[in-house]
Amino acid sequence: MVAHRAANLHPLARTGPSRLHHPHHRHPAAPSRAGPSTGRPPACQLGQHEPRSLGLSRPDQRAGSIAGLAGSAHPRPQPMMPVLGPGLWQGLARFVVVHTAWDAGKHFLATWHAWRTDAHRPGHLVYVAFSPLPCLPPAADPTDTGPAAALTAQLHQAWPALCPGLQVLHFEQGAVQLWLMLGPLASSLSQLQASAHALLLVPSAALEPQRLYGACARLAAPGAVALTPDSPAARQGLQTAGFVLGAAGSLLKAQRPAPQAPGFRPLPPAPRGRRPAQRHRHAVVIGAGLAGASAARALAAQGLAVTVLEQAPQAAQQASGNVAGLFHSVVHAQDGAHALLLRAAALWAAPHYAALLNAGALGEVGGLLRGLLEGHEDAPKAHPSPPDITELRALLHTLGLPPEHVQALEAPQASSVAGLPLPFAAWLFGQAGWMNPPSVVRAWLAQPGVQLRTNSTVDALRWDEQRQQWQALSVQGQTVAEADIMVVASAHSSARLLAPWTDAADWPLETTRGQVTQLSAAQCERWGVPRPRLPLASGAYALSLPPQLGGGLLCGATKQWDDADPQVRNSDHQHNLQQLQSLTGWCPPGNDMGDTLQGRVGWRLATQDRLPLVGPVAALSELQGLRQLEQPRHVPRVPGLYTLTALGARGLTVAPLLGEVLAAWVTGAPMPLPTKILDTIDAARFVSRARRQP
Ligand SMILES: Cc1cc2nc3c(=O)[nH]c(=O)nc-3n(C[C@H](O)[C@H](O)[C@H](O)COP(=O)(O)OP(=O)(O)OC[C@H]3O[C@@H](n4cnc5c(N)ncnc54)[C@H](O)[C@@H]3O)c2cc1C
Repeated sequence: MVAHRAANLHPLARTGPSRLHHPHHRHPAAPSRAGPSTGRPPACQLGQHEPRSLGLSRPDQRAGSIAGLAGSAHPRPQPMMPVLGPGLWQGLARFVVVHTAWDAGKHFLATWHAWRTDAHRPGHLVYVAFSPLPCLPPAADPTDTGPAAALTAQLHQAWPALCPGLQVLHFEQGAVQLWLMLGPLASSLSQLQASAHALLLVPSAALEPQRLYGACARLAAPGAVALTPDSPAARQGLQTAGFVLGAAGSLLKAQRPAPQAPGFRPLPPAPRGRRPAQRHRHAVVIGAGLAGASAARALAAQGLAVTVLEQAPQAAQQASGNVAGLFHSVVHAQDGAHALLLRAAALWAAPHYAALLNAGALGEVGGLLRGLLEGHEDAPKAHPSPPDITELRALLHTLGLPPEHVQALEAPQASSVAGLPLPFAAWLFGQAGWMNPPSVVRAWLAQPGVQLRTNSTVDALRWDEQRQQWQALSVQGQTVAEADIMVVASAHSSARLLAPWTDAADWPLETTRGQVTQLSAAQCERWGVPRPRLPLASGAYALSLPPQLGGGLLCGATKQWDDADPQVRNSDHQHNLQQLQSLTGWCPPGNDMGDTLQGRVGWRLATQDRLPLVGPVAALSELQGLRQLEQPRHVPRVPGLYTLTALGARGLTVAPLLGEVLAAWVTGAPMPLPTKILDTIDAARFVSRARRQP
């Protein structure tokens, strides 16, 4: 691993990188012995039992001093919610709580404490909380030295600078996740896709009761319990949402009936293949690059056995084989789909990669400078007049982005952070850095439950109706592997493999050749090449490599459309050195350098809209005659057939999050992206677009 570089940073930068944390702090107190998920909690009759039989107890009975913790950025009276406990999560593999407020973490901590002290707890606890404004964890009580205080300390240590949208904090090696949704409650709630087993509903002036309670109809798993202060509006709202109401009291308890129980109302039918099936045991993933390895890791973390088939003798030999690549967020005034996706992805990636450094991956999560340069990304050149930093800072303020995430620096400040004179102003991204992709892929494939099979070329896919299995076939037509879930993450061959089943032949895909240039430490020394403290980017990039990766500097990359030449070209080295000059002001000594330089060629696969393709693929055979296809959510899918591909030039940034998105599609785990972003990366989006623009 390569250590963080926070110590080298300009003081302006310190708040960012130094706050990055190792997200997985502690092992659970005892191993989980949860049985297979039924997807719903056990049924119970409301109004006939004491709270304990619902799996509920008072916070102070279960969590020691947790109930006494205080402190919130926006303190306001919160209803006392009972702690959720074993009676609710018995038999579940994953327990999901939706809490429509943030009570400074008190209820989350109590639930976490109850979870970790139950030997039969579910394997995963996902707690989703909402806050309209940046919020704080509970204040630590220095006099408390019990286990509850240790959890509070972990929450404090993990607490990030919050950006608008979703931020996920991982504990217990990822088994416990706190999802903080920052933004207006109405839009955050409507953008959440989850199947919750407990809903803690706190009435808010920001949301009409019918929308608050109406959301439960969509978010509640069969058998889920809702808790809310008792009121006529709550009773009416929950009843309309299909819940059975409990007895009157200060806190209303209601339950969505289980499927066999009287009064059960199923959710409105979804197009075929869009809902996760109840149980999956085995997945085959084709391709062992960043996309396939991330999908495999996330699926295995959800309990599936995963076989990864890779045509090459080793993983990460194609686009994911470069010595280093950058990951970072972007800033855009419109804050559109790209910006939202890349920000969400960078927020997910930074703590994930920081943890991966401890698992043997190489890289640095120490920030990145993105030059405010003009022109096409393939040919950056300095602005004729420097950008107005005051305006840029105002933009960051408007977007609600904290300095730990991004700052706008004038050229002198940026130079000071980079440790060399820069001819441009720059964004300084804190939750950013560089990684060595092959080591990332290796670390992901090392996840228990993942089996890599190299030298395994997949030539076609077959659905075996009798066995209800997807089969990956070799060139000879033999079954290489089979499973109920098939994930195609093989970049340039993805469309060909999927074309018999979906609209992949019509996907607007582009292939661009890219060549990077690697200067050795000796060459940097000889030619006086400046080595920035932080990676520099602006279309082109330059980053200093650590001794484990040969020292020196990596720069590039070229971008050539429909160019299949695998040879490293001198002319491309010259191009990369010119870009290095634009970024650092350094002048290459002469044209004859190219012969002595090292480089590598790869090909990026992207869609024309520059957004990846993720999820179950559209069922081509079922589209005919369907009237309503304008939104991806209307499109029927091929059950069990998924893709994760077209990561473009952003594979390192998006792969960690998109692996989780893919796993959420397969397993029904809460979706770590809001619906509006999910739709823009949906593998079926081109079917909808074609329908909207015939
Ligand atoms: C020059 C260059 C510089 C880049 N720099 C950056 C950067 O700085 N930051 C960043 O985020 N991204 C960068 N990228 C993009 C990034 O590398 C890609 O987005 C990412 O690697 C794509 O991962 P993938 O898994 O989709 O594809 P790949 O890494 O190509 O993986 C696909 C895998 O599938 C296997 N496969 C294919 N067909 C079959 C088959 N039929 N059967 C079995 N296996 C098969 C392949 O062998 C391969 O291992 C760069 C790309 C290039 C080319």
